[in-house]
Amino acid sequence: MFAKWIDENSEQIIEKTQGVLRINSVGGEQTAPDQPFGPGCAEALDYVLQLGRELGFAVKNVDGYAGHIEFGEGDDYIAVLGHLDVVPVGSGWTYPPFGAEIHDGKIYARGAIDDKGPTMAALFAMKAIKESGVALGKKVRLIMGLDEESNWRCMDHYFQKEPYPIGGFTPDADFPLIHAEKGIYCFNLNKKRANLESAPVVVRELTGGNRVNMVPDGCRVVLSVKGDAQAVATTIQEVAAREGVRHELQVAAGEITLFVEGVSVHSMAPHTGINAIVQAGKLLRELDTADRETWSFLSEVDTEGARIGVQMVCHATGPLTSNLGLAKVDADSVTFTFNLRFPVDKTDADMLKLVEDKVGPEGFETSDPGIANMKPHYVPIESEIVQTLLKVYEEETGEKATPLTTGGGTYARAIPNAVAFGAQFPGQPDVAHQRDEHWEVGHLLSCTKIFAKAIYELAK
Ligand SMILES: [Zn+2]
Repeated sequence: MFAKWIDENSEQIIEKTQGVLRINSVGGEQTAPDQPFGPGCAEALDYVLQLGRELGFAVKNVDGYAGHIEFGEGDDYIAVLGHLDVVPVGSGWTYPPFGAEIHDGKIYARGAIDDKGPTMAALFAMKAIKESGVALGKKVRLIMGLDEESNWRCMDHYFQKEPYPIGGFTPDADFPLIHAEKGIYCFNLNKKRANLESAPVVVRELTGGNRVNMVPDGCRVVLSVKGDAQAVATTIQEVAAREGVRHELQVAAGEITLFVEGVSVHSMAPHTGINAIVQAGKLLRELDTADRETWSFLSEVDTEGARIGVQMVCHATGPLTSNLGLAKVDADSVTFTFNLRFPVDKTDADMLKLVEDKVGPEGFETSDPGIANMKPHYVPIESEIVQTLLKVYEEETGEKATPLTTGGGTYARAIPNAVAFGAQFPGQPDVAHQRDEHWEVGHLLSCTKIFAKAIYELAK
């Protein structure tokens, strides 16, 4: 019903998609009252809203934070939520990142798959429905945010001004569909330090990790040694060899500086990396320090949350994961910052209580590191929206659709009763945020067909 229009207008779809990809919409600082994320994001939104107007839709720019393109009748609406901001391009591109050149059937550009390309697919899906003349029972809105890659201020602002939809999808992740997203919770464990000088070795400083949502790949430790520093260095090297801890060390009079190496990966799969802070703990627990218990604790921190009392399995999303992402130790105190990805039926408060019950008796206190947390997001597989989208995907692709879950966060969290639906097809390389980001032209068009069917089925 809609495929014919999409096939006949494929040139226009490709050209207009290239048009928005040629706008450098890396999110930036406010440049004018109506440009809270800089001129590039504003230009991208103007471009798509203008196009929406030309395609015959009602459009609205909500104070430069976000905008929407709408059609149909009724009070309730179904939302498709995309975003037009992109992450910085980095270096090493084969083709210009804002050139939107097509090579071997692929459009190369920052934002091709994340998320301008899929957003344009949704817009032309709406146009295909409009052109078919079918009647819809509900309104449809394509909402476009401009701050997805940073702080989602776009959605906070948008939903202060606009009503929530009754449900919908975001084409900002993977096909077939992601129906469950773990909660994300960060906290500090703090411990006071005292009487350090009573022991022969003192951990003067320890610093590890760059971001709490990455497994740390480096940890720097400075030790003071009373007596033979070389002997302590030898002990460290022996332990490191036994435990398989990659490191470098420098010995000076009475002082050892230690660099411990790990392997950095995203904190939603921390078991696939090597935590440099935990590795450092394995070395430090063997030394004659006054706060040996702290280093023993550190060495035992695991990626399932067992050591801090939160190990559990979610019926929808699988095992909880725990990442010790940051560590800061100075003369007075120890601070370890954790990033948990927890089950859909649990809360921040549940996590905090379990942690405090477990490590409170060991002298740890908790504090808030001031990092944005996220509630779990869960739409049951039996729900109408999930069932409808799975059926559409199977009909359009001929592939069996098994719903997915994630420990990451997708844009679907911004809307109740929404799931991530596309636009990355299974088996495709994940090029979002990478150099040479691209999307196959064929996928742009097949995605437009899938979205047309999906929007129709949800809004009919
Ligand atoms: Zn995205």
